[in-house]
Amino acid sequence: MSDAPEPPNPPRTPPSPDEITRKLEDFIKHSLGGQVLFTQVSADARDRKETREPEATVSAPEEEDSGEEVFEFRYKPVEIKAHLDRFVIRQDQAKKVLATAVCDHYNHARMLREERKAGRVLEISKQNVIIVGPTGVGKTYLVKHIADLIGVPFVKADATKFSETGYVGGDVDDLVRDLVAKANGDVTLAEHGIIYLDEIDKLASGGGERMGRDVSGRGVQTALLKLMEETEVPLYAPNDIRSQMQMMFDSRKGRTGREVINTRNILFIVSGAFSGLEKIIRKRSNKAQIGFGTGAADGGSGSGNVLAETVTQDFIDFGFEAEFIGRLPVRVVCDPLDAGDLLEIMKSSEGSLIRQYEREFGAYGVKATFEEEAMRRVAELAAGEKTGARGLVTIWEKLLRDLKFEMPSLGLPELSVDGALVADPEAALVALRRQAETLRRDDRAMVVTEFGRRFAEEHQLALGFTSDAVAALIARSEREGIEVASLCARLFKDYPFGLRLVKAAGDGGPFVLDEAAVSEPDRYLSDLVVRRCGRTTQTNSEDGKEADHGA
Ligand code: ADP
Repeated sequence: MSDAPEPPNPPRTPPSPDEITRKLEDFIKHSLGGQVLFTQVSADARDRKETREPEATVSAPEEEDSGEEVFEFRYKPVEIKAHLDRFVIRQDQAKKVLATAVCDHYNHARMLREERKAGRVLEISKQNVIIVGPTGVGKTYLVKHIADLIGVPFVKADATKFSETGYVGGDVDDLVRDLVAKANGDVTLAEHGIIYLDEIDKLASGGGERMGRDVSGRGVQTALLKLMEETEVPLYAPNDIRSQMQMMFDSRKGRTGREVINTRNILFIVSGAFSGLEKIIRKRSNKAQIGFGTGAADGGSGSGNVLAETVTQDFIDFGFEAEFIGRLPVRVVCDPLDAGDLLEIMKSSEGSLIRQYEREFGAYGVKATFEEEAMRRVAELAAGEKTGARGLVTIWEKLLRDLKFEMPSLGLPELSVDGALVADPEAALVALRRQAETLRRDDRAMVVTEFGRRFAEEHQLALGFTSDAVAALIARSEREGIEVASLCARLFKDYPFGLRLVKAAGDGGPFVLDEAAVSEPDRYLSDLVVRRCGRTTQTNSEDGKEADHGA
């Protein structure tokens, strides 16, 4: 077992420090031919991770200064929203709040930098964001497009994959290192990246049905808390062999520099569906109404989405640590999407899946058109899936699966995706196959006609084919697996000579070949020659003359 190559993923069970040391030494020896002895790889690595005090970690100030000029932010909230509007349908409130929070965050980063340069200390609280909303309504999509627009690296992960220690499951610090990888090693850019953690609601404790991992969830909240505030994360994971190897390579190449990443300017966005939160909110507001005797409410909310009324206590009641939720001051709510919204996504989002399908068919020279009726039906089916816009992918993939497989080979130039196709994709495929067959036959029939035209041009002999002959030629070409043009050239190669004889004998055509000419071309020709020339010879003999030619 120890001889097997190291698997590409980080080990799931905790490797002992000695094991890491041994593996690294072996690796260097075998791969690079050198002998290296590690004295200090991991004995204290865990402690270091906990205390966030890696030795000699503070970067040289001039390095940081030079790096800081790399990232410049100059957007206004309205501009960010306008960008999001191109891709994301609905979620107007979320777009506004997010756009504003992002601008605040990066403006704060700049101000902090400037103040520090001027030797002053500025107190600014971080604007980390929590997004509440069901799955597939654009939460990730919003954040990803913001990151794309402002040009910062973006990392997304599910909170459920982390554990407190980082040994079973991932280590939250890895998220920060992933940002560096996304930024192609540019640490300064990574320090302004966005970390997005979905399924954060699964970290809540209590509430029985919600959690199966109470203890760990709380631990991960604590670990995240440090990241969300400000901490320094070692650039090379102390207990990950790949990371350590990377460090070796970098130092061999003389790339020594930053050893830590500061998380102060990293924007943290967490999200979750928070099922059950509505109940908590309703309960609270009902209580309040009873208490204060207001008559306004009927259990719903003015905006139509109860979640918009969430307050910190609701999250705490849901099972979050107060400190954790306190570090997420910006609250964003994403609304569920109905069938009408899903139709709108297909029709007008720049990232619409429909555009993608059009491009995919287009790659094979097929112009695909999606009719409104088809999209409407799919939107209704997708809404029934209750997975937001993700339902669209599910439904379309199922509908188009066979079509996407076969269409590129059918040779049809166009595809109309209409209501009938959505209602019965199998029948639509059968019809397309038939259409392709007809088209193929028409194409081949044209090749036969073209052969006759060329023949006439080259040999001054008018040559045509009966429709039976054309069908027989197509059938024979398919049977023998040869192009119709080559088949014609082969079958009728003696026809110029033979027909010239016939012409010389007084029959100038046009010569219309039938099915028999296709099945037995030589016999057909010789019969024709004999029939026509023989008749001429006979006539000539009757006139008392000799025939010019013999057989
Ligand atoms: P979640 O809310 O679970 O994070 P995503 O943002 O990942 O969902 O959405 C999945 C996909 O569905 C996106 O990549 C996008 O193509 C599409 N989508 C979701 N919501 C919207 C929306 N409001 N407008 C346009 N497309 C959307």
